[in-house]
Amino acid sequence: MGKCIVFVNQKGGVGKTTSAINIGAYIALAGKKVLLVDFDSQGNMSSGVGVSKDKPTVYELIAGQVQAEAAVKHTPVENLDAISASIDLAGFSIELVEKVPDEKERVFFLKNALDPLKNQYDYILIDCPPSLGLLTMNGLVAADGILIPMQCEYFALEGLVLLIETEKRVKKMYNPNLKIEGVFFTMYDSRTRLTHAVVEKVKERFGNELYNTIIPRNVRLSEAPSHGEPICLYDPSCVGAKTYKKLAEEVISRG
Ligand code: ATP
Ligand code: MG
Repeated sequence: MGKCIVFVNQKGGVGKTTSAINIGAYIALAGKKVLLVDFDSQGNMSSGVGVSKDKPTVYELIAGQVQAEAAVKHTPVENLDAISASIDLAGFSIELVEKVPDEKERVFFLKNALDPLKNQYDYILIDCPPSLGLLTMNGLVAADGILIPMQCEYFALEGLVLLIETEKRVKKMYNPNLKIEGVFFTMYDSRTRLTHAVVEKVKERFGNELYNTIIPRNVRLSEAPSHGEPICLYDPSCVGAKTYKKLAEEVISRG
């Protein structure tokens, strides 16, 4: 059975998508079979790994219009597959609320849709939108573990409390196996002093759950998506590539 990890942070632009793509790519390069699931109607992950946003997407999958295997697309990286998302996903939450009166039933759509794929992959990585709405709830119910990317700034701490409360609620009500897999810092700028203070605070709160690898701010990481390539193809020798490789190794070694 594959392990399902969801990338969550309701704060926008913290590196969820970049991390899911590049951690996924390096896990795949380590010889594991990886499926990336784009669960954000922005479709950034799909563009970033060079897969088409044409149907079938994750929307057709959760709406039951297509079989799981048929929704899977190949990426340019060996062992790395993806299910894409498009703007169609934006209407899904509204449709669900209209059509499915039972609140519990509404949060199981992604889990049920991905279940047939779980034994075909070592890792399934889900990229969520920047909110704690119904899509992210579906992601949390489908997952075994949560990875939280964070920027090293003071405001990053404020959202964490709500995120942890949400994790606890989902664990209690829908998914008893859910756990916080880890927290890691992205877009780190060693020149600023505040960032050191934030790192210390998060260490206090998360201890062992804080990953050792810190992803620095690196322009090559922001260029790669426009070429539809994970950093391992776009520029494997840049510092962003090296640190994502280390982070992926940490994810694998922590089980
Ligand atoms: P959203 O909440 O909108 O889904 P996100 O949390 O998925 O955003 P990303 O899209 O991964 O965040 O990153 C936001 C922007 O920052 C993107 O333009 C991305 O290319 C860039 N970026 C991400 N990580 C880095 C980095 N380490 N160094 C430089 N730029 C980065
Ligand atoms: Mg994103």
